[in-house]
Amino acid sequence: MKLKILEKDDRRIKLLIEDAPLPLVNAIRRLAISDVPTLAIDEVAFLDNTSVLYDEIIAHRLGLIPLTTDLSRFKPPEECEGANPINNPECYTRLFLDVEAKRDYEIIYSGDLQSEDPTVKPVSDKIPIAILAKGQKITLEAYARLGRGKEHIKWSPVSVSAHKYVPEIKIDMRRCDLCGKCVEECPKNILFIENNSLKVRNVLECTLCRACEEVCEQQAIKVSWIENSYILTIESTGALPPETIVSEAAKILERKAEEFIKHVEELKR
Ligand code: SF4
Ligand code: SF4
Repeated sequence: MKLKILEKDDRRIKLLIEDAPLPLVNAIRRLAISDVPTLAIDEVAFLDNTSVLYDEIIAHRLGLIPLTTDLSRFKPPEECEGANPINNPECYTRLFLDVEAKRDYEIIYSGDLQSEDPTVKPVSDKIPIAILAKGQKITLEAYARLGRGKEHIKWSPVSVSAHKYVPEIKIDMRRCDLCGKCVEECPKNILFIENNSLKVRNVLECTLCRACEEVCEQQAIKVSWIENSYILTIESTGALPPETIVSEAAKILERKAEEFIKHVEELKR
């Protein structure tokens, strides 16, 4: 198997994976969505809420705010089942909200949350939580813990986890009359005519839509894909770096495979 980073920044990674079976790439993609743990607010104690919103609505909104997550700092979710949020710092961390509107109305944002742990904070300060009228207050203590997307999507670390085939475009210049119809039709603008020849740039941008094939009366262009090669795109919510999401997903797959082997070995005894 060969792995190459095509694009990477602090939120997104695009990998070219060659000589790999589709089920393996798909398993990594799915585990990134459902099994790689992140922090999210799971319990909220309200001390005061004079806003027009029910406590449950505010608690639900708080749960959906992505939080920066240091996986080495917390125990895995399975080891925290039944743990008391108050006195289990390896399972829970607290965030506080204590706001009162001083003007006619004020928008309360994720940035108003105060965290007791400097490694845990909302990935964005600009996520609205509530609008308060003058004099209205919200005071609460929120408890965040590690969880997995298969339990609730608020714990999923990804906003995008997708793979696609690696496109291959073949042009038969003996048939092509350079009419340019495919160039006009391509939504990704990757076909162009130069020096009396039809050429392709950035072939990985091709969406395999086959619009070029459909407009070509000469049947001079053929779009297909390379066997066992895939492009995996992971976009993080900001809770974890995208490369960590991929490596954690791979580790989880490895652990599941080891467990499976162990059970099979036991059956043989
Ligand atoms: S539509 Fe067909 S014939 Fe026309 S430029 Fe494209 S490949 Fe060539
Ligand atoms: S398949 Fe679609 S995206 Fe790819 S080259 Fe043809 S028209 Fe462009």
